[in-house]
Amino acid sequence: MTTSSTLTHLACAYCGETYTADQLINLCHECCKPLLARYDLARAAATLTPESLAEREASLWRYAEVLPVRRRDAVLCLGEGWTPLNHAARLGEAIGCPATYIKDEGVNPTASFKARGLSMAVSRAYELGAPALAIPSAGNAAGAMSAYAALAGLPAHVFMPQDVPTLFQVECRELGASVTLVDGLITDCGVKAREGAAQHGWFDVSTLKEPYRVEGKKTMGYEVAEQMGWTLPDVIIYPTGGGTGLIGMWKAFAEMEAMGLVGSERPRMVAVQSSGCAPMVRAFDQGDEFAAPWEGAATVADGLRVPAAVGDFLILRALRESNGTAVTVTDAEMLAYAREMGRMTGIFPAPEGAACLAAQVKLLTAGWIRSDETVVLFNTGSGLKYAHLWA
Ligand SMILES: *Cc1c(COP(=O)(O)O)cnc(C)c1O
Repeated sequence: MTTSSTLTHLACAYCGETYTADQLINLCHECCKPLLARYDLARAAATLTPESLAEREASLWRYAEVLPVRRRDAVLCLGEGWTPLNHAARLGEAIGCPATYIKDEGVNPTASFKARGLSMAVSRAYELGAPALAIPSAGNAAGAMSAYAALAGLPAHVFMPQDVPTLFQVECRELGASVTLVDGLITDCGVKAREGAAQHGWFDVSTLKEPYRVEGKKTMGYEVAEQMGWTLPDVIIYPTGGGTGLIGMWKAFAEMEAMGLVGSERPRMVAVQSSGCAPMVRAFDQGDEFAAPWEGAATVADGLRVPAAVGDFLILRALRESNGTAVTVTDAEMLAYAREMGRMTGIFPAPEGAACLAAQVKLLTAGWIRSDETVVLFNTGSGLKYAHLWA
């Protein structure tokens, strides 16, 4: 049994070199930049219609035409995606922006939106015959990878900085992964994962170093559009580490326009980072095409502790093409706004999610967001995974 995927090939996001999609592959062989999946969107548009979607399952797999998995038996689903887009009415009134919405990704399997990307990447690696998987992660990605590897019955090798909060390590171990703690940052873990992959034939599912995590995360863009009746908000605020979700949503908007699901208008995309690790904000402010690595990265928001991102140029492109911006918030602001969000909405956010609210308030104060605009914040994970922060 096949899915209705219309995947055609892969193309390098930087040099345009194309590749067959039916192979296990990491980066572009020519320029070592990310590969992106391409689809037959004319064919997809024939069946991916608002009417047909209304009948479909409540998971991200509802968008099968524009997802890469071809075989039904390779679809690894724990119920990821199709998360609520909550109108934060009380919060919106309080901050002077009534049309504030929160996409609550904390309700995903493994309690973060990493489930979207890893569901897709592990499904596709499984479909293409990977014998085992490896991932460097500062937290949520490792738990999600461990979960989908367990579902598939694939060995999982996780490399984490040794100061990662205990719960993130425990989650991986209990899900059956082998966990190696590394004395260093996520970038050092990446080196270890790569070495293991080269030595043992594991497939490396580092973010944007394989083509399909971004395909899982792009479904956030499809969902926001569908949940808003095929319109898009004025502003999207996204807590940016590797930037996979931001890049994915930007790709989704172009695909949706090509299929006639939305028009040519786009939200202004905002990347939020911690003042303790803000390589994208610095590069955006300096007008750079690529982001220099951030020295001494430190933040309580583990998902934002990414000193260097392989998709940096794609993040910066999306911010600029959308007339968006990039802002920093402090860890103290994240903790304060987590409480504000919790008390005003009933959503207990990850610090990364709270960072979006802190950024929104800054941008409202600066007049960059107007009070009558529609704003979507991404709460990318559940506060319950960060028990160590809320003493
Ligand atoms: C990984 C992560 C992020 C950053 O996501 P990217 O798409 O890699 O930028 C934000 N929040 C949480 C909770 C995360 O786990």
